[in-house]
Amino acid sequence: MKDIDNIILDLDGTVYVDNKIINKSDIEIRRLAKKGKSIYYLTNNTSKNTKHYVNKLNNLNLPVSTNSIISPIHVMIDWIKKNNIKCVYILGVQELIDELKEKTGVANSSKNPELIIVAFDKELTYQKLETACELINKGVPYYLTHIDIFCPTLKGNMPDCGAIGMLIEKTTGKKSINNFGKPSDLMTDYINKIVDKDHNKIVVGDRIHTDIELGKKIGAETVLVCTGEYQNSKNDNLKINNTQIYNTLTDYLLTI
Ligand SMILES: [Mg+2]
Repeated sequence: MKDIDNIILDLDGTVYVDNKIINKSDIEIRRLAKKGKSIYYLTNNTSKNTKHYVNKLNNLNLPVSTNSIISPIHVMIDWIKKNNIKCVYILGVQELIDELKEKTGVANSSKNPELIIVAFDKELTYQKLETACELINKGVPYYLTHIDIFCPTLKGNMPDCGAIGMLIEKTTGKKSINNFGKPSDLMTDYINKIVDKDHNKIVVGDRIHTDIELGKKIGAETVLVCTGEYQNSKNDNLKINNTQIYNTLTDYLLTI
């Protein structure tokens, strides 16, 4: 049995794909929450807001509160407040725009924005891309919410924020300034602020370049699962660069 107090779980490809829970992970997550473990859900997906995630996880019978969701949206809210940003132009879904406005008071406008935020915009239009590129051509800086190129779905991989960012970068010849998702320094600082530093923690995810890298940056143990991007499931418990590998999240949680 392992002594882990803070369990930080990736969602897409780790806990579930779309609305389908992977290998009954919900049962183990509930068991560990009852044992007093702190469970956090760490997603890079900015196509849904916090309220959506609380409802979705509740519907999936997972133990959740507003404070247990960690998304680039929360990192952005902190950052916008800290930097006293008043006006941005957002390529994002309306529920993201609403949450940012509600929690920071920031305006979403193409008239003299201080910066552009490119999110996982499932309501993206050519018009929005044109407006963003016009502003970037004039010198307005842009930030990505996260760097994931694609999102795994039951229909296969779909373009995510990183792919939209690449489209803009190829078009304008200008790179984004930073991003607010795993494994950026902005996300790392945010997690270090909200997750109890005095107790040990583990990050479980399916992506080496986001989940595992983030875990290492915050000094957590790391577990890679084979139910999403990472597929090599030949050797359970095999350690690669100090990362444990399990077939599924459930297989790992059963060891705690
Ligand atoms: Mg994932």
